[in-house]
Amino acid sequence: MADLAELCNGLALTDKESALFDFDLEHVVFSPSDPKEQQWILAVTVLRHTKFNVGAMERTLKGIWKPFKGVVMEVIDDNLFAFIFNHENDMKRVLAGCPWHFENSLVLVKQVMTLAEIKREDLFLCPFWIRILELSPNRISEEKAEQLGSMIGNFMEYDSGGKHVKYSGYIRVRVEIDTSQSIRRGILVGSKESSRWLKLQYEKLPKYCFWCGGFDHVERECEVAFDDGAKEGDKRQFAGLTAEESFVPSTKVANSQRWSSS
Ligand SMILES: [Zn+2]
Repeated sequence: MADLAELCNGLALTDKESALFDFDLEHVVFSPSDPKEQQWILAVTVLRHTKFNVGAMERTLKGIWKPFKGVVMEVIDDNLFAFIFNHENDMKRVLAGCPWHFENSLVLVKQVMTLAEIKREDLFLCPFWIRILELSPNRISEEKAEQLGSMIGNFMEYDSGGKHVKYSGYIRVRVEIDTSQSIRRGILVGSKESSRWLKLQYEKLPKYCFWCGGFDHVERECEVAFDDGAKEGDKRQFAGLTAEESFVPSTKVANSQRWSSS
């Protein structure tokens, strides 16, 4: 055991304080006493069925994230990784820039406090900028936009665009969606008497399955397509959900997307 005075920062302990309690320290993770030693951890998985080169994935993500203060990767399990950042801002930039891709597959990231916390089943949400078509930023209130965003998933932000909005014909909402479900193509709003189908488009959408809308595979790997294909012909009903790249973002959005891969 280390010198008692050293352990207790030079304090002269009373008899009561000197009593050593029997307590297993093996699975206890202490915060570093120096905040500069704090580490910032993202749990990461690549959303795809097929094998990939882990070294290439590590190089690609480090290359596009370019953390100022460095990052190391640890393999937790098959297709489950920890990226350990030395600075909070580097980690926050990665979170703000979601979604990320590796070889056209979605990379899911989630902040955790310890490596022991990392579980595959916790990695399924991913934020996207989603366009809701047939609406215009200058003709809808923020409140209504937020309501629509909440119908898609966990609403995070509305790009009101301010006076500098350079697009029309759609509004943009940032929404965290559940990637274990098929991708949502639109939202049906209104009442029984009068309703509208509002189509959705996704910015920075990776490859996904046009047949069943799954995020983790493409048609040629799709079990539904394999079962249905022969008897029902072409049913690629989920095509056409990728937003065009020609968009000029507002300043606020540009800042959060500066760190993105595209
Ligand atoms: Zn499919």
